[in-house]
Amino acid sequence: MHKHHSALGLATALRPVQPVTLIRPHAASRAARFFVEKFPGRSMYAVKANPSPELIQILWDNGITHYDVASIAEVRLVARTLPDATLCFMHPVKAEEAISEAYFTHGVRVFSLDSMEELDKIVRATRGAEDLTLCVRIRVSSDLSKLSLASKFGAMPGETKDLLMAARQAADALGICFHVGSQAMSPDAYAQAMERVRAAIVEAGVTVDVVDVGGGFPSTYPGMEPPPLELYFETIHRAFESLPISYSAELWAEPGRALCAEYSSLIVRVEKRRGSELYINDGAYGALFDAAHIGWRFPVQLLREPDSNARDMEFSFYGPTCDDLDHMAGPFMLPADMAAGDYIEIGMLGAYGSAMRTAFNGFGSDETIIVEDEPMASLYVRMERAPASNVVKL
Ligand SMILES: *Cc1c(COP(=O)(O)O)cnc(C)c1O
Repeated sequence: MHKHHSALGLATALRPVQPVTLIRPHAASRAARFFVEKFPGRSMYAVKANPSPELIQILWDNGITHYDVASIAEVRLVARTLPDATLCFMHPVKAEEAISEAYFTHGVRVFSLDSMEELDKIVRATRGAEDLTLCVRIRVSSDLSKLSLASKFGAMPGETKDLLMAARQAADALGICFHVGSQAMSPDAYAQAMERVRAAIVEAGVTVDVVDVGGGFPSTYPGMEPPPLELYFETIHRAFESLPISYSAELWAEPGRALCAEYSSLIVRVEKRRGSELYINDGAYGALFDAAHIGWRFPVQLLREPDSNARDMEFSFYGPTCDDLDHMAGPFMLPADMAAGDYIEIGMLGAYGSAMRTAFNGFGSDETIIVEDEPMASLYVRMERAPASNVVKL
């Protein structure tokens, strides 16, 4: 893979015709070490956030030994990439064939569930295995998060008692898990969810061996700057310590976004300007799904030498495909003299950006280049906010 010192150097030297994904291995290493050293329990990486084998290898090299997988393809991918990793199949609704293959072929022993049907499925598919860790997913609020995961999965309060008791019977180790929603903007999200865990344990009167607080750990984006991750960790630790569980119970988390958001960004070229609209060569069907469909804002910067002296103004983007849906409202702050031929770096696309690219309409590209400069924003490096700009300068 090519290597370059910086995004700016790359854009000015190569003037790429296609969008280029930039990756920053050092940023993923830093995030992994942060979780390994500071989270007061075990951090497993939620593979769906970015399933790149290179990234998974980097996380492993920096101490992430457990992986939250949700599909049989993710099980196979991680098993192939990291034969010694521990896989946890944390999708609460699985195909029975997937459970069997995971258990018998890939040695998966940890499964989540949120219904009696799924418990029956797991017992059948593993032929009554006696070495399972079963994590009952309970429903918690997503109110403090930017992206809800509250409607689809999770046992309701009236269902958790029977389910926990039945899972206890079938499991070697019993866990309770939840997901507060992605990009949780306050540690209180976890404190509130832990109260639900407490109520469920007390009601069912079962011994719990694992409490898994799921994902939701935030990254930083324009207009979405969360408190430091240490505060989340402290809140979770305090809540965990006060639960009615045994001294040997384990605390787990499943960070996706927080481990990989800073890992990659994208260089795009402006093909046309129409007023405050820039037509760029990647979009809703490329790495900008979230920018288009849920109005997510990403940091942007012009890559031009010499740099522009113009004041920033608000732009929106059109992607390259032939339909109106391929539109990113932003606003994205860029110099007022932006023109066709300019290059833009769009930052913080390592989570749920790279992972969702398609080749629809013949656009998109697989070109990936390693760069050594810092990501456009970071939760792991002391930050200084640039005034009048949505670029968080390091
Ligand atoms: C998506 C997902 C995660 C990762 O969530 P982030 O918000 O990216 O941290 C973790 N666990 C489960 C079960 C998920 O579905």
